[in-house]
Amino acid sequence: MIDHIKQLEAMARQLEPDAQARQQLLAQVTTYAEHFLQGLADAPVFVSGTDNGRSLYDSPISETGTGIEAALQTIQTSVDRPNLNPASPHFLGYIPGGGLYPSALGDYLAAVSNRFAGVYYAAPGAVRLENMLLQWMAELVGYPATMAGNLASGGSIAQLIAIVTARETCGIQPADIGRAVIYTTEQVHHSVEKAIRIAGLATAGQHPIPTDSHYRMDATALEQAIIQDKQAGLRPWLVIASAGTTNVGAVDPLTAVDDIARQHNLWYHIDGAYGAFFVLCEEGRKVLAGMDKSDSIIMDPHKGLFLPYGTGAVLVKNRQHLYQAHHASADYMQDTLDMAEELAPSDLSPELTKHFRGLRLWLPLKLFGVAPFRAALAEKIELARYFYHKIQEIDGFEVGPYPDLSVVTYRYVPPRGSTNAFNQRLIQEIVRDGRIFISSTQLNGNFVLRLAVLNFRTHLETIDMTLEILAEKVRSVGGY
Ligand SMILES: *Cc1c(COP(=O)(O)O)cnc(C)c1O
Repeated sequence: MIDHIKQLEAMARQLEPDAQARQQLLAQVTTYAEHFLQGLADAPVFVSGTDNGRSLYDSPISETGTGIEAALQTIQTSVDRPNLNPASPHFLGYIPGGGLYPSALGDYLAAVSNRFAGVYYAAPGAVRLENMLLQWMAELVGYPATMAGNLASGGSIAQLIAIVTARETCGIQPADIGRAVIYTTEQVHHSVEKAIRIAGLATAGQHPIPTDSHYRMDATALEQAIIQDKQAGLRPWLVIASAGTTNVGAVDPLTAVDDIARQHNLWYHIDGAYGAFFVLCEEGRKVLAGMDKSDSIIMDPHKGLFLPYGTGAVLVKNRQHLYQAHHASADYMQDTLDMAEELAPSDLSPELTKHFRGLRLWLPLKLFGVAPFRAALAEKIELARYFYHKIQEIDGFEVGPYPDLSVVTYRYVPPRGSTNAFNQRLIQEIVRDGRIFISSTQLNGNFVLRLAVLNFRTHLETIDMTLEILAEKVRSVGGY
């Protein structure tokens, strides 16, 4: 038996490379990362015509490992090359992502030490570190210190946590769902729809509220809808406002919505996944006034704080509400119960074992301080405004509303032929070209182009290049 154990041990020990082997691995990985980062500005932001990663199947998982070189080669050709490169400064589509380098180092340290960040007893420091970050966000939003929050994997899960908390706090039982009504605009992010469905609320009523010419919620229409639904014997219980819609970056009238929510006793949730961190800069703070009034809010560090994908936050003003909706206990957890001085992620979210996400946020904030984040966010707003003015100087372009934050909508109106078809061709050409990446949407039945500025690597030169490329592609698509 001992022989067998020793035999197994010899094999199992391969899982722990020695110090020298570790250094070699790390050196090769950082060489790869440096190559990636140093080539970023000149690399295409969209690469078409590859095998879309199909060659991954040529090296399946097998009994024996490959070396790090072969593994990095596979990552390069099959993963990092095909299609969209969101780390690029020239990524201006959807809502751009980030990828702060110190976050990668924070992830590295979190993975190496592997603290159990879900439970206070196991890792009080890790729990406090995340709570401290959430408290910092609460201050930004204007919530009291008695709030609670959670660093989730992204905005969608944060949204789900908020909606489940609202459902539990408002006591919406299965028997009530048929009468319960939720209020949003049609501009709300589709993760709200998803969360409503996953939370078992698909059969609840949803009353779409019209938007104004800036695609912001019409607060008067909201109040009318609530009154009308009450008169019809329904139960209005939840209103969801957007602090920066994904579509056009519009901020709903946050204070007016609050007045109505209070008057009619609704839970007030704000989706600030894209926009809420703009509160760090002066211009953003003006537009976002009233966020503090809500009962819950989500905000995505992997958007507005430029983190790599994998971190979205939810804050709930009354910590009891978040706790009541998410805590649970079990016999095998009995050792962990007593000494908690702070609520931990496992009390406040669906997760037990979790990625120690705090470190990837804390490390860049500690290394850089907050000031460069403020500047970068102010810069993104300015760049969007700059584009908004400059694009109108190119003959034939028309714009949507003046940007509340950092999304601009626009389209080219050709002298003849279908405007929608022209803009579809235009965006195809731009994506194929690969120097910049923009995306599109539908507004009032029109196919419109979007420019979303949020990558921390995007600066003036990218916007100027975008203006040049747009002018150039209009000429080639239109044959002028
Ligand atoms: C991105 C986004 C979401 C969803 O967040 P994920 O982090 O992508 O899951 C929700 N709402 C808005 C307004 C967003 O921009």
